[in-house]
Amino acid sequence: MRCPYCHVDNDRVLDTRAAEGGYMVRRKRVCNSCQRRFATAEKIEKLSVRVVKSDETREPFDREKIRRGIERACSKRPIPSATIERVVQDIEADVYANFDSEVNSSEVGDIVMRHLAKLDEVAYIRFASVYREFDGAQDFVRAISAIMGPNVVTFSR
Ligand SMILES: [Zn+2]
Repeated sequence: MRCPYCHVDNDRVLDTRAAEGGYMVRRKRVCNSCQRRFATAEKIEKLSVRVVKSDETREPFDREKIRRGIERACSKRPIPSATIERVVQDIEADVYANFDSEVNSSEVGDIVMRHLAKLDEVAYIRFASVYREFDGAQDFVRAISAIMGPNVVTFSR
């Protein structure tokens, strides 16, 4: 590490300790040239995944956008904010665990739907109807079948 005072690249580490619950390492260093002390902090590089949209444009994965979609789907449902926050965290963790640099927006949508299916049936159907651009009753039947099983929903004619 280059010394911030004399700019010579020659130092030794005096002390190393974990910070931020083990997600950061701080080191005290002394410059061998001017003998002055400075400190460095080592952190995990910020993870970033880009979302590839259907028109091939890319944008950074945005958890706030996910949250807004889920809040809309959950409006007037008996779901506490803390639960929504936890679901957003789970979805974010799922995306980062399964994709390194890019993820298709359709895959993000599928992940959100999987989590909503476990959370609330109405919210799931609402989200699916917007996200999948439902245009008929059959689309709703398919979405409901996906969480309730294929034999639950039947039309009597
Ligand atoms: Zn120095």
